[in-house]
Amino acid sequence: MRRGGGGGGPHGGGKEASGLSRDRRPVVLASFRRPFRRLGLSDALGFGLIATMVAATTTTVYALGGAPNTAVHGFYFPIIYAALRFGRRAGVLTALVAATLSGPLMPLDVAAGTSQPIEAWAVRLVFFVLIAFAVHWLARQDPRPLEEMLRDSATHFRLRGALARNEVTAHYQPIADLNTGQVVGAESLCRWADRAGGYHSPAQFIPAAERTGLVIPLGQHMLTTALDQAARWARGPGPAPMVTINVSAVQLTHPSFLPDLVTALGVHQVRPELVCLEITETALIRDPHQAVRVVRAAHDLGLLIALDDFGIGYSSLAYLRDFPIDIIKIDQSFVAEVDCDPKTNSLVMAIIEMAKALGATTIAEGIERPSQLESLRSLGCDLGQGWHLGRPAPPEQITSSFARLAVGPKDRDPTATALASPPPDPSSPDRP
Ligand code: C2E
Ligand code: MG
Ligand code: MG
Repeated sequence: MRRGGGGGGPHGGGKEASGLSRDRRPVVLASFRRPFRRLGLSDALGFGLIATMVAATTTTVYALGGAPNTAVHGFYFPIIYAALRFGRRAGVLTALVAATLSGPLMPLDVAAGTSQPIEAWAVRLVFFVLIAFAVHWLARQDPRPLEEMLRDSATHFRLRGALARNEVTAHYQPIADLNTGQVVGAESLCRWADRAGGYHSPAQFIPAAERTGLVIPLGQHMLTTALDQAARWARGPGPAPMVTINVSAVQLTHPSFLPDLVTALGVHQVRPELVCLEITETALIRDPHQAVRVVRAAHDLGLLIALDDFGIGYSSLAYLRDFPIDIIKIDQSFVAEVDCDPKTNSLVMAIIEMAKALGATTIAEGIERPSQLESLRSLGCDLGQGWHLGRPAPPEQITSSFARLAVGPKDRDPTATALASPPPDPSSPDRP
């Protein structure tokens, strides 16, 4: 694999400063306001809703015989809603009103008319006010909608358990030379099989793991698994294949990433030039200074660096200048239309020409049809991967592809399905 040059300082920080820095506005609040705004309703509706919730809870508590009874918990709803939608002051005001209504005005036993102990009421007052503060504080801490936070924590706990039970594995998708059809490497892709036999999509759980921080142990697990596999393949017959490993933005800029990488390379005795780290532009934007330091250090160790999903997102030519990029992976959205849309075809040609000028290798992702393969080959794309060439599969199935192709004809027809790997597990996400 050719190596691209690097030089200069990181760019993209300006972009971060101008618009991509973390927006800390309480989006939870905004998401509550949005439907009302869309309907053209003013905040009056929100206050009306709070008053209705307070009145409904008071009536219910009365009807059920007085405070305290479980219906008192109904007061949480207007307090939480007020704190989320209108802020701390409205939350605290609602808490005071709720505490008053469920306190001195509310007998302990409506029929007998017995009053509540003052301490019980004071505790409830403090609790309601604390809830208003806590909800408001939480809403400001994370700019994500509440449902997403809840979904993330559920994924976090399930994925953490799956990691502990060794249910997270790697499948490998072959990467073939588009001219000879020979498999020269494989991309390691995370697969999480749950106990019910289903698979979860990494496109969903990796972003959640990034947000909760679980991507650090998960990434470490994937790194050691892939390095172990790379070492096994290197010991096998034929030329040693390259193994590419996806590295998330959070993982790349974590202080333990480089030391862990160096240790894992040593433990598994893998030649660094057989390992390629796939990074996305998001990773480079997130913390460009740290990213450039880590990427250069990894490159200096001898590892290959690939820019994944090139052409979408925040594509910036500055990354190609500042980072030592060896491989450019053309995003599958371009490959999807390379054979049928002249504009896309021209764009892919431009990417390939640019990569050539930089001394980088190109890999086309998501090749599904022979006509796409043919177009890419005629445009001079070096390598490719996709369902037409071979689906991601457990390592044993890919091993046979390496062995077969290593001894196979060098000029085999790449338009014939290159790998003909054994049929995948029917419950796998990689099934045809
Ligand atoms: P990616 O790195 O761009 O990986 C390529 C994705 O395209 C994979 O999806 C692969 O199964 C799928 N694919 C391969 N050939 C074809 C094709 O011909 N057509 C179509 N439509 N799709 C094809 P997958 O496995 O669901 O992974 C999705 C994304 O999740 C990956 O995109 C990568 O960004 C991330 N990911 C996967 N494994 C890991 C991992 O171990 N660590 C990290 N940090 N991210 C990972
Ligand atoms: Mg990738
Ligand atoms: Mg990709």
